[in-house]
Amino acid sequence: MSLSSIVFTGPQRRRLEAAEIQASVQRTGWLFVLSALAGDRLGPALKRPGRHGPCPVHNGRHGDGFRLFADVDTTGGGICATCGAFSDGLALLQWLFGWSFPEVLRQIAAVLGYLPDAVPARAVRMPPGHRLTVRDTTDADAQRARSQLHRVWSEALSPDHPEAEPLRRYLAWRGLESVALDARVVRLHPALAYWHGDAEGHQRCLGRFPALLARVCAADGRALTLHRTYLRADGQGKAEVPCPRKLMPAAASGALAGGAIRLAAPDRMLGIAEGLETALAAAALSGMPVWSCVSATLLERFQPPAGIEQLTVWADRDRSGAGLRAAERLRIRLSGSIVVRLALPPGPIPDGAKSLDWADVWRQRQDRSLSRAA
Ligand SMILES: [Zn+2]
Repeated sequence: MSLSSIVFTGPQRRRLEAAEIQASVQRTGWLFVLSALAGDRLGPALKRPGRHGPCPVHNGRHGDGFRLFADVDTTGGGICATCGAFSDGLALLQWLFGWSFPEVLRQIAAVLGYLPDAVPARAVRMPPGHRLTVRDTTDADAQRARSQLHRVWSEALSPDHPEAEPLRRYLAWRGLESVALDARVVRLHPALAYWHGDAEGHQRCLGRFPALLARVCAADGRALTLHRTYLRADGQGKAEVPCPRKLMPAAASGALAGGAIRLAAPDRMLGIAEGLETALAAAALSGMPVWSCVSATLLERFQPPAGIEQLTVWADRDRSGAGLRAAERLRIRLSGSIVVRLALPPGPIPDGAKSLDWADVWRQRQDRSLSRAA
C-alpha cells in the first residue's frame, strides 16, 4: 500500500500530499501516532513493543496473542495470532478502528497538526524508550540542542504566512493585531509537540499545538535558543497544557543571563519587559523599541547593548512584588553607566488576578476605545 498514491483535500484549502504525511510520520515516529490515536486501546502493548499481550480487537482483556513489532516506531505494525499480521501502522489502524484508508490518513494528518481543529489535547503516555533526558549541557548536548533549534525554527512559518492564522488570531485576541513582527525574530510553528514530565520522570507527549516561537539572543546578540508559547488552535488564548510558555534547551550553557528577545532594532532609547506580549504592548504604547527578557530573573540580569543611553523597564505589577524587585535590582546594577527609568502599570491589581502588566493596560485601552466607538 503506497501512501504517495493518495492525495486529499484538507479544510485549509491546501491539498495535502500523502507523501508529506508519510514523511511527517517518519520524523515523528509511529509510537507517537499510535499513542495519540489509539493509546487507550493499545496501552499495554505500546509500553512493551515486541512483548505479547491481549488483542485489542478480538479478546479484550483476556489472552496474550497480540504484540506490536519491536520496530513499531519505524513500521507501526503488529500481529495477532487470531486476527492476522498488520505490516504497517496504516493497516494496523484500519483493523483497529475499521477506518477506510483515506480516513486513516485524515486521522494521522489531524494528529500531526495538519488539520488544526482536530489536534487531540488528551494525554498520551510515551513508552519508556521515548523518554527525554535532560542533563547539564555538554558539547554533545549543545550540538543536539542546536540541531533541534534549527529543525523547529525551519519548520515554522513567517507571521504573514497564509497558514500562520493561529498566531494572528492570538495577537488579535490580545489586542495586538496591529504590531509589526519580524520573521527573523518571531514565527509560528503550526504543530509543535508538547512534552510533559510526570512525577516519575517519564516524558509524555500531550499533543501538538500551534506555537509562537521567539528567538532569544545572548547579550552579544547571537541567537541562543527559542521561547515557545503554545496556543489554542483557534488562537483564543494559550493552549490548555501545564506550562504553555517554555524555553527550548539552549545551544550554549550559562549564556542566557543578559539575553533577550530582540523584537526591534535598538535605538539610543530602549525598553525592556518580562513577557513577549508585554513588550509588544509597551512598544505600541510608547513607540520605542521594547525587548522581552522572558522572565523576571532574566530581566534582572539584562545586559544592554553598547550605544544605549536610556533604558526604560516596563515592569510587571504583581502581588508577590517580584517584577518590581527585579526592575529595582537592574536599575541599581546599571546606575552609573546609563539612565534607567522604571514604568509601573497604573492602578490596582484587579481582584482575582495575580498581576497587572502593560499588556493588560494596552488591552483595557483597546476595549475602552472600542466601546466608545460602538
Ligand atoms: Zn486478535
